[in-house]
Amino acid sequence: MQNAIVVLNAGSSSIKFSLFVERGDSLEPNVRGLFEGIGTAARFVMKAPDGSVKAEKSWPEENKLSHEEAFDFIVGHLRSELADNRLIGIGHRVVHGGSVYTRPIRVDQESLKVLDTFSPLAPLHQPHNLLPIRRAMERMPDLPQVACFDTSFHRTQPEVAQMYGLPADLREAGIMRYGFHGLSYEYIASMLPEIDPKAAQGRTIVLHLGNGASMCALLGGQSLAATMGFTAVEGLPMGTRSGSLDPGIILHLIDRHNMDARRIEKLLYKESGLLGISGISSDMRTLLTNDDPRARLAVAYFLYRIRRELGSLAAALGGLDALVFTAGIGENSPAIRSGVCRDAAWLGVEMDEQANVEGRRRISSDSSRVAVYVLPTNEEVMIARHTRRLLNN
Ligand code: ADP
Repeated sequence: MQNAIVVLNAGSSSIKFSLFVERGDSLEPNVRGLFEGIGTAARFVMKAPDGSVKAEKSWPEENKLSHEEAFDFIVGHLRSELADNRLIGIGHRVVHGGSVYTRPIRVDQESLKVLDTFSPLAPLHQPHNLLPIRRAMERMPDLPQVACFDTSFHRTQPEVAQMYGLPADLREAGIMRYGFHGLSYEYIASMLPEIDPKAAQGRTIVLHLGNGASMCALLGGQSLAATMGFTAVEGLPMGTRSGSLDPGIILHLIDRHNMDARRIEKLLYKESGLLGISGISSDMRTLLTNDDPRARLAVAYFLYRIRRELGSLAAALGGLDALVFTAGIGENSPAIRSGVCRDAAWLGVEMDEQANVEGRRRISSDSSRVAVYVLPTNEEVMIARHTRRLLNN
């Protein structure tokens, strides 16, 4: 009998899940899948590690399912996959750990209350992340629930990197730079010692370029600075998020465009970024194959902001030993990687175009002063590792 861990990542209308089984020191991926369309037309799919479909089900739109029902359905299926393995706990992705939680925690009623207080800081994610924890605690009170935060990894940053130029009382009230995508950065940092010991001990910038996009400066494998701040809207332009703006724009929108908080929220999170600039799509694949000048401008702005942030993070690090590309765009787009590296030539980056097009792990030339890598991220395995470590102690 082996120990098994379930990992859940719950969003507003979907729950991603995966099952890991302990084999000696490593955690082997078992099944994984997605429950989507919660509250509308629901669909469940569960796949084996080779990608083959193990189970599938769809519900008609009139038969809406709640988050709780989706959770029960997933757990029912995962139980039948456990065979004679022993489920030791569930690891949950939770976007916000505030300034308090600097590492993953085993959740109890008390900490659940604290996590609830972070919901106003991430209203689009935190409440959904907490639903399955609550349900699991009701349904399986003896099974440990572990929360792994997107913010924790950044708590090693120096004080100046975690603050804004606002009055001290606002900072004490929680208005600070939290940073996000921490589980992704932590996973990449955990891979570096094996791949490039010099970069692992030195100065690396990781570019997590997906629908959500951010960058993080790692010094000796720890977060030193990142582009996302108080919310996941700061920094780079993203699929539908604006990235950094002059705060004066918000005031102007309120005063002159009759926008209230909810309208501005929709603008900044859903209508801006690649979608807003192009008016065509939030999907990088679509934009890269479209000759429309607006599509080109969206891609050009994305690259330009990466170039600017790269300079800023390299300055925070005082130099650069390696760049790592990860997430949907970073892992799959030679064109974007090529553009970023061309812009970073001044930092000593020299790309091997052949290696880039072939999607090799190392894509810098032998003479490049800065090593460049493409590493697939794996937030799920990071959550599983944390869960195992916490429960084994
Ligand atoms: P999320 O942040 O939702 O997890 P992903 O990391 O899956 O997102 O990244 C999604 C993004 O990756 C989309 O913009 C998609 O267009 C982009 N992407 C995926 N494959 C490619 C590709 N071959 N070329 C360019 N972009 C790609």
